[in-house]
Amino acid sequence: MFGFAEDLDDYGAPNELTHPEDLPRVLEELGKLFLDPVYSPTLQYRFATAEGDYKWIESTFSNMLSNPDINGIIINFRDINERKIAEDLLRESEYFFKESQRAAFMGSYRFDLQTNHWTSSEVLEQIFGIDREYDRNFQGWLDLAHPEDLEMMSKYFTEEVVGKGLPFNKEYRIIRKSDGEVRWVLGLGKLSTDANGNIQSMTGTIQDITDRIQAREALNENENKYRELFEANTDSIAIFLISPEGQPQFIDCNENNARLLGYSNEEIYHISPDQIEIRVSEEEQMFRIKELRDKGFVDFETKLIHKSGRLIDVEIKAKVIKFKNQLAVLNISRDITNRKQQEESLKQSNELNNSLLQAIPFGIDIVDESGNILFMSDNLRKNIGKDTVGHKCWELYCDDREQCEKCPLKRGIKIGETRFYEAEGILGGKTFHISHTGMMFHGQLAMLEIFQDITDKKEVEKKVKLLAYSLESIGECVSITDNDDKIIYVNKSFVHTYGYSYEELMGMHTSGLRSPDLAFEHVRDILPITIEGGWCGEIMNRKKDGSLFPISLSTSIIKDEYDNPIALIGVARDITEHRRARAELIAAKEMAEESNRLKTAFLNNMSHEIRTPMNHIMGFSSLMAEVQGAEKDEFAQIILKSSNQLLTLIENVILLSRLQSEISAVSRNEINPGNLITNLGKLFSSECTRKNIGLNLRIPQGHLEQSILSDQEKIKQILTNLISNSIKYTTTGFVEVGYELHQKEIKFYVKDSGMGIPLHEQQKVFDSFYRSEQALTMAIGGTGLGLSIVRELVHALDGTLELESEPGKGSCFTLTIPVEHTGTSRVKEAVLSKPHLPLQEVTILIADDEQINFLYFEILLKKSVKKLDHAGNGEIAVAMAAKTKYDLIFMDLKMPVLDGYDATRRIKQRHPGTPVIAQTAYATTEEREKALLAGCDDFIPKPMKKNLLLEMIQKYS
Ligand code: ADP
Repeated sequence: MFGFAEDLDDYGAPNELTHPEDLPRVLEELGKLFLDPVYSPTLQYRFATAEGDYKWIESTFSNMLSNPDINGIIINFRDINERKIAEDLLRESEYFFKESQRAAFMGSYRFDLQTNHWTSSEVLEQIFGIDREYDRNFQGWLDLAHPEDLEMMSKYFTEEVVGKGLPFNKEYRIIRKSDGEVRWVLGLGKLSTDANGNIQSMTGTIQDITDRIQAREALNENENKYRELFEANTDSIAIFLISPEGQPQFIDCNENNARLLGYSNEEIYHISPDQIEIRVSEEEQMFRIKELRDKGFVDFETKLIHKSGRLIDVEIKAKVIKFKNQLAVLNISRDITNRKQQEESLKQSNELNNSLLQAIPFGIDIVDESGNILFMSDNLRKNIGKDTVGHKCWELYCDDREQCEKCPLKRGIKIGETRFYEAEGILGGKTFHISHTGMMFHGQLAMLEIFQDITDKKEVEKKVKLLAYSLESIGECVSITDNDDKIIYVNKSFVHTYGYSYEELMGMHTSGLRSPDLAFEHVRDILPITIEGGWCGEIMNRKKDGSLFPISLSTSIIKDEYDNPIALIGVARDITEHRRARAELIAAKEMAEESNRLKTAFLNNMSHEIRTPMNHIMGFSSLMAEVQGAEKDEFAQIILKSSNQLLTLIENVILLSRLQSEISAVSRNEINPGNLITNLGKLFSSECTRKNIGLNLRIPQGHLEQSILSDQEKIKQILTNLISNSIKYTTTGFVEVGYELHQKEIKFYVKDSGMGIPLHEQQKVFDSFYRSEQALTMAIGGTGLGLSIVRELVHALDGTLELESEPGKGSCFTLTIPVEHTGTSRVKEAVLSKPHLPLQEVTILIADDEQINFLYFEILLKKSVKKLDHAGNGEIAVAMAAKTKYDLIFMDLKMPVLDGYDATRRIKQRHPGTPVIAQTAYATTEEREKALLAGCDDFIPKPMKKNLLLEMIQKYS
């Protein structure tokens, strides 16, 4: 049985032959056997064979130890090896079946259609969630089905399976009984029929495929999702196979891929990926292959060929993938045409920027916050003479301290903010205009500095400024106008002269400044003539206030360096003053001519006027010796009259020239106008009687006592001249003299019924030496000085003189002078209060170096006065005055040794009460003042008239 030889001893003890795994069990049973002789176990175990392997045996052990014959243990052996192996195999296959059912979650069933009962495996029970009590019939199966699948199931089973005898193969849903969960199952089954073809039963499996269905759904969902992503991706995605033998071939691609290349979705699959790319160098191809092989992907840029032939710039990411177990390439291409274009334009603009940066005539650098120079343009480098990139910016400047203080970075310049300043005397003494702009440079705050060399510009500016200041400071009005004559610049003088503001003048047409009275043609001509070269002349212009004034204007054209006219310049001068001066000059010239003419006439006249009395004086003087008695007296009268005539003439000439050359001092005496007129009346009454004309004095009632303050001498002189003229130019009728006293003025008038003055001569008669035509025709004597003297005197008194006259009817001269009233006259009392010495008691000293003058005094006074002494000079006079107390001294001012002034001074020192009368031949005001200062009391003109002399002696003695 075991292949052993008969002699078991050769094989060792039985326990050594028992399988080691079974031995303990066998030995345990043996133990029990030894203890209990009745015990007879049957054991199955493995026992070794002679070949060295084991065989399953079944042994029954019997304790025969008590049997002396045997005294041992009887073991019988039954070979159960075959059975044991079959059993194991069955058990194993059952186990595997069960386990595989469990693992696949698949149960089995058998449905007996005859009995309407089905059996189920353990796993099926789990799948269905049923227990042993569940009704396992057809209805029981339908009850498990999902309500939505129920109809379909029952129909399928009856029609397809039972009806057509097809195997059951259906996925359907059940509701698991144990927990009510919906599960997917795959039911498979096969019908078995009897010999007659009747359906007996159906056996099959039911597998829970819920997980698979869910996985499938999830997969579908995923796949859809990925497809959507695939399609929705803006990049063009393509998958193509690479086979070593043939051309690569598209197997899938999204719509973008087709669209990018201009093909339809169908067309693209007929084109090889090689055909859509421009020829690629072998080197590039090798690179791509190497990258794909080494890294599994490669990125590159290339150009694809559009269906139209146009090239498209793309960026491609290619990756090796496994597609359906084949090696494929996933290609994601992105159209970068725009980016390329942008890059290209960026490149171009960079190039442009660079060339601009280097070309612009400014030095440019970029400086960081710490003052490090990060960039420098060629221009600046040239200016500095070295590359200072990496250096500090202040190393650029000569005066680092000042520049650093001004540095805008230190004062927190902001990005985009620009500041300027001018730095003088840097980089070799030049002037730079520097602009600083805050900017970002390589991610940090920096400053762009632009250096503009403005040294030359500054020089020009200085010149321009000088020019501008010159224009502004000159007195002439300067205007610059455009070619249409509209103002674009005016200087200060212009603004000042015209009264417009600068702003008002800007853009104004020059015609707006011209006088509206100017002839249009005249003004119109200025512009074209100026454009031709220049214009100059005098025109009337108008100020803002409308006032007109003459200007002397000179205009010319301003041309640029190419000789193109750019503007017009006008330089004008206000010639109002100039014109006035010119007019005055002309008037003065005319006056000079007139006075020359008058002077000639005067001289002619004078020679006549002088010669006539001189002839008389000389003629009759020479005859004096030859005549006696009455004839001699008559001759003397003629000589006296002629002398008076001559004297009047000389007096008038001297008076007029004095009045015209000096400012005549006006004295303020108390005057009684009534007395004045009365006295004048007395003076002229004899002459009027002689000419047989009436002299009427008109003194207002009650005015005889009225007095005024004015210059008596001058008024008297005026009235004397007017009255003597009236008498002279009146042959019949009357002469009337009167006055009217008003509040602030007095009006004297001298009226006559004489020959009158024609209107055209009424102005001229006041000119010096002018004599009316009639006066000349009628040979009435005169010098033409009377009215001139009157006019000067009226002027000195601040008065006016009016003339009303009609030829043949008479004239009326009205003198109006301002006066102050003093009330009742005191003059009379004053005169009356002075006690007079009788002439015979008066002692007089005549101080005069001229013997003839003394002689004249002697003839006049010797017999009338008590004593008449003569001093030949001032010193003698002083000595004599010291010895004798004179009542009156007549002092000549011009004397040798000691003049009249000093002599008077000395005499007055000792004898302040002695009146000293200065003898003057119409002294100047200066002379008079000097005399008064020296102490003289009054003046007496030379040659002396007897009447006046006596009046004076009376007055002061
Ligand atoms: P004269 O009398 O010496 O000629 P005047 O200057 O006094 O010079 O006068 C100027 C002129 O005015 C005189 O020549 C005369 O023609 C005229 N005239 C002056 N007064 C009168 C008058 N009362 N009546 C007419 N003519 C007068």
